Amino acid sequence: MTEYSIKPADFYQQLVNTALAGGVLSQGDGMRILTDPDVELLPLMQAAFQVRKRYFGRGVRVHILNNVQNGLCPEDCNYCAQAVDSEAAIQKYKIKSDAEIMAGAKAAHESGAYRYCIVLSGREPDKKRVDEMSALVKRIKAEYPVEVCLSAGFIDESAAVQLKEAGLNRYNHNLNTAESHYGEICSTHSYRQRLATLEAAKGAGLEVCSGMIIGMGESPDEIWTVANKLRELNARSIPVNFYVHVPGAKLGERHQLTPEYCLRALALFRFSNPDAEIRAAGGREVNLRSLESLALYPANSLFSEGYLNVGGHGADKTMQMISDAGFSVESIEEVD
Ligand code: SF4
Repeated sequence: MTEYSIKPADFYQQLVNTALAGGVLSQGDGMRILTDPDVELLPLMQAAFQVRKRYFGRGVRVHILNNVQNGLCPEDCNYCAQAVDSEAAIQKYKIKSDAEIMAGAKAAHESGAYRYCIVLSGREPDKKRVDEMSALVKRIKAEYPVEVCLSAGFIDESAAVQLKEAGLNRYNHNLNTAESHYGEICSTHSYRQRLATLEAAKGAGLEVCSGMIIGMGESPDEIWTVANKLRELNARSIPVNFYVHVPGAKLGERHQLTPEYCLRALALFRFSNPDAEIRAAGGREVNLRSLESLALYPANSLFSEGYLNVGGHGADKTMQMISDAGFSVESIEEVD
């Protein structure tokens, strides 16, 4: 067992001080958060809360998902129900019409949504799709005062610049796991390609939204590596997903996660990315179980009403949990 020179009682405060001073969470401290049994959960959550509170108070940003294109993906990400070789029984459909996407933007605005996020499955948009998305973003921005985020797979610098010029605010593309583990989850593209997309988005002046799926066989060290990489990319939004097997998806069942480990991982992301929106994203209900509301101490954002191909709590239950835990909804973000 590793001997630590700093006692747990001092370690919590050191984590807070470093994060609030803008310091980098060291690899050793990241590992300790995840693996030291003497680091106890409640003081760790309270320490993460001090950092969260500085930047986000007790506010919670709630995201609601509704995919504009589902399934039919040529990639083989083995955790994904939409992958080319997945046998998962999911609903598959091609992209919705412009009218439907515009109606989604209108509904999002009318429901008080702060941000409207457009999500397409697939490897990458071709030039025609980038042109269409740019035109849609321009129309949405002209008609409704909402922030717009797009998730459409790989983009290069020229697509990123075009989307930025059309008024896009943010681009989502998840790293999903560390470079050292990437070969275990996908063979049709590489971690480097994912990173290049994020660098293109950042270079064009778009905000970066990018996260990870925990529980796919990665080591604790690899979780820290991803969190640190997202800090380098200045990711403003970090969805932290917890792996859930969808029957038919190639990766299969994994039994790596406990509720406590998930919470420790959320705390790690908060300490490494103090002022980023940290989202307890896909799989929170299944993996956090009775400790779900503790996620609000490190995280300031949640999904409601389920995920692309996995069910979750409805809005009522999510809102109830937020208020029961003493937090309040800060904004709703519609993901269409
Ligand atoms: S994660 Fe994205 S790129 Fe990979 S198979 Fe699923 S939809 Fe396709």
